[in-house]
Amino acid sequence: MKIKGAVRNIIRELGRLYPHARCTLDYGEPWQLALNARLAAQCTDARVNIVAKSLYARYPTLESIAAAEMGALEALVRPTGFYHRKAEDIKCCAAMLCEKHSGGIPDDMESLLALPGIGRKTANLLLGELHGKSAVVADTHCIRLSRRFGFTTGDDPYKVEMTLREILPEREQLPYCHRVVSHGRAVCLARSPRCGVCALRPWCGFTG
Ligand code: SF4
Repeated sequence: MKIKGAVRNIIRELGRLYPHARCTLDYGEPWQLALNARLAAQCTDARVNIVAKSLYARYPTLESIAAAEMGALEALVRPTGFYHRKAEDIKCCAAMLCEKHSGGIPDDMESLLALPGIGRKTANLLLGELHGKSAVVADTHCIRLSRRFGFTTGDDPYKVEMTLREILPEREQLPYCHRVVSHGRAVCLARSPRCGVCALRPWCGFTG
C-alpha cells in the first residue's frame, strides 16, 4: 500500500516537473533511432546526435549504410567509442532491416532482439517510442532512481524492468523512464543526489 502511494505521488510530481521530457536521441526516420540507440552505448546522447548528423549526411538511407565500406563507417562513428563493434552492428542491423523488415522497425520484442546490436533496453525504447507500446527503458538513470525511490532493490536491468512493469501503470511507463533521465541529470545525480532541493523527497525512500 505504501509503495502504491509513493508510485502515484512520484509519477504525478515527475509529470509536473518534466512535462515535456522525451527521448534525447534525435532521429528523423524510425530506423535512425535504432542505429542511434546502438551508438549511444557508453556514450552521451548529445555526442551521438552530433555524430549521427555526419553519418546520415554521408549515408542517407538504410541501403547505403548496409553497403558502406567498414573503414569509412568506423571513422564516422569513432567519436562514440567502441567504434569497430558499433560500425559492424549498425551495418549488419541496416542490412537485416532491409532484408527482413522492408526497412521498417518490427513491433515485437523477439524480432527486435534478433537485430544486431539491439538489446532489451533499446528494444523497449523502439516499442514505446515508435509503436506506442508500453515500455520500460531500464537505463542507468532509471535503475538508479528507481532504487532510490524504493521501487526496486536490484540492479539487474531485466529484473528492474519487470518490477517497474508491475508497479507502474502501462501508459506511464515510457514517460516515467524519460522523466527519471531528466531528474537524474538535473537533481538526483549519481554521486551526490541533491536531496535538499528535490521535490520528490517526501516520497523517496533514499536514506543516504
Ligand atoms: S530525494 Fe534524493 S535520492 Fe530521492 S529522488 Fe530526490 S535527489 Fe534522488
